[in-house]
Amino acid sequence: MQQPQQVVSGHGVNLFQDTQNALGLYLHIPFCFHKCHYCDFYSIVDSATRHEDRQQHFTDALISELLTANDKSPLKVRTIFVGGGTPTLLQPKFWHQIFQTLHKIVDFSSLDEFTVEANPETVTDELMRLFAQNGVNRISIGAQSFDQSLLKVLERWHDPQNVSKAMNIARNAGIRYINLDMIFAIPSQTMDRLNADLDAVLDLQPDHISDYSLIFEPNTPLTQKRNMGLIQPIKEDIERDMFEHVITRLSQAGYDHYEISNWAKKTQANQDLPVWGNRCLHNLLYWHNANWLGFGPSAASHMNGHRWKNLPHLGKYIEGSPIPPTIDHEYLKQHDRIGEQLMMLLRLREGVSTAWIKKHIPDSDVRHQTIKELRDINMLEIRDNYLRLTDQGLFVGDAVIARLL
Ligand code: SF4
Repeated sequence: MQQPQQVVSGHGVNLFQDTQNALGLYLHIPFCFHKCHYCDFYSIVDSATRHEDRQQHFTDALISELLTANDKSPLKVRTIFVGGGTPTLLQPKFWHQIFQTLHKIVDFSSLDEFTVEANPETVTDELMRLFAQNGVNRISIGAQSFDQSLLKVLERWHDPQNVSKAMNIARNAGIRYINLDMIFAIPSQTMDRLNADLDAVLDLQPDHISDYSLIFEPNTPLTQKRNMGLIQPIKEDIERDMFEHVITRLSQAGYDHYEISNWAKKTQANQDLPVWGNRCLHNLLYWHNANWLGFGPSAASHMNGHRWKNLPHLGKYIEGSPIPPTIDHEYLKQHDRIGEQLMMLLRLREGVSTAWIKKHIPDSDVRHQTIKELRDINMLEIRDNYLRLTDQGLFVGDAVIARLL
């Protein structure tokens, strides 16, 4: 058997050379069959068949909005990502209509990656074959945990056994990359139970793993339960031990820790993979602060320093078709854009090149002093001409990075 090799590093590889045009599309499908208690994404509870009219109206509005992006010639985007909500809850006949539109407005020959998020309960042969036929090459399956009682804490409704079934269905249909999304530090989780979850993930050998510690988002039922003392969050020092353990186990199992909470299976010498290996290109696009356009209620967009978001309201989204109402417009000046880009690049384990810092951060910028202070306390380090989070800095990554905004 070939030994896994280190995935080709991003060092010296400029993945996103076009800095002016949209390189990614994000489509938001706002339906879920149940609201998980930790979730603060915009979605509404729906069933695949009971609200057919609503799904049709949404699809019509999404298609109208997508057609506004067609600027005479097809868009040369590198990635499409369909998130939610639960995109796999949308009926196949509506997917047909969306694919037809995408084939009209996107030059698929320039597309490197087409991802759809999936709930294990809604992955079917029919849908996966339809996806594969239409260029989808990555499925991101929300597993979160394989422990039924931890799923219950999250009020996440799926049978853990259906995760492997969903992966098999997707692979048999010809979907090349499978992502598994996990959560750790779930109330009542122990180190043993974390290990059991990691065993289950590694048995399945996904191409990519996201593993985030549980966040208590404001105004979610889970946060309310915590505030009422009905559940106890995992203590900070245990959460840190858990994160360390996740890093160790996934690294030992041949996964490349390329972003704070993301791992890609290392490539084999005989594999014909792009330069970014099994990493998720659409997320790399975000972390490189490239341009993308979002469609659907609550979808965000970023174009050359301009940021905005579609109103998170399905009724108004449908009424506003083809141009939906938007909120949170923001234009970042150069100084702030550099801060934001620095912050995003530092999420990557390889960090940001010192050449980039020299080119974009003037000598007079106070960020040089902040970087020095963070290096002095061993939160940041320079390795191979890249500034990056230290192993210690990783555990408080968000707070460290925020100082450089
Ligand atoms: S399935 Fe995903 S989007 Fe829907 S409620 Fe659960 S976490 Fe939120």
